[in-house]
Amino acid sequence: MLSGTTRAAGVIGTPIRHSLSPAIFNAAFEAAGLDWAYLAFEVPEGAAGLALAGMRALGIEGLSVTMPHKAAVLDGLDHVSPDAEALGAVNCITRRGGELHGDNTDGAGFLDALRIDEGIDLADRRVAVVGAGGAGRAVARALGGAGVGSLTVINRSPAAAARAVELAGPGASVGAPGDVAHADLVVNATPLGMGVLVSTAGEHEPLPVDVDLLQPSAVLVDLIYHPAVTPLLAAGRARGLRTVNGLGMLIHQAAHAFRHWTNEDPPLEAMSAAAVAGLGAAHRA
Ligand code: NAP
Repeated sequence: MLSGTTRAAGVIGTPIRHSLSPAIFNAAFEAAGLDWAYLAFEVPEGAAGLALAGMRALGIEGLSVTMPHKAAVLDGLDHVSPDAEALGAVNCITRRGGELHGDNTDGAGFLDALRIDEGIDLADRRVAVVGAGGAGRAVARALGGAGVGSLTVINRSPAAAARAVELAGPGASVGAPGDVAHADLVVNATPLGMGVLVSTAGEHEPLPVDVDLLQPSAVLVDLIYHPAVTPLLAAGRARGLRTVNGLGMLIHQAAHAFRHWTNEDPPLEAMSAAAVAGLGAAHRA
């Protein structure tokens, strides 16, 4: 039950009403027995600074940050982690001793999803990341620090791929679409498959990866989690490939935020169950 001592957290972004984060975090607080509550705040573009002032004034303990504020909040924070600084994007703000600390937990969440949920050892793996936007850059940077054998970033705009490669560090390179043929792990970090790009003529969007090129032993990862089985993952499964969607990354990036805010171990099963239930409700709506 909420009381005068309940501690507050939330997410800022727009649009925000579809966010799964309130379901995930409130389930986590309940499972962990913490007197915390998490709300979704619709914050219009250009108002990130006001939201940070509100966080300070109201004593909000933690904020998740989503589109379009991930870069805009950087200037208003007291401390920014090296990952968030390099990526130019913050997705998690923690209030510590009255000061606001910014982090980016997407890359760590991606690695945890593969290691913890899938039991995948990334050491010496040849990895191809397709897409070099916010998610692709975070994933490339995380993989660059994870001891992979090689990392190739493939993207429609070569300049964005080059930036992701720079963030990943030595050993990473810009590749061409056909380079997925040499990868043990292929990651789609484009929005192709979310179903948002269907043309007015009703044509389906293309697959971001030609699955026929992939090795039979390759693992195919899609960062998209809704739908749970994207056209890409369906094509991969039809070829007998092992597939992984983006739900694990979503849960684990939230788990890192939970740890930052509460200093407690995140109740992963409760968080995952809440996300699955929330996705089911969104699907029925
Ligand atoms: P973003 O910053 O907008 O970047 C999109 C990337 O996809 C860019 O590299 C872009 O290429 C490429 N792209 C877009 N449309 C394309 C097309 N028609 N053909 C080829 N490439 C195209 O988006 P984002 O934030 O990185 O998100 C990417 C995906 O990851 C989304 O589906 C998002 O839902 C998912 N995601 C999942 C999680 C999770 O927790 N599971 C977290 C974050 C994001 P250009 O550079 O050429 O424009």
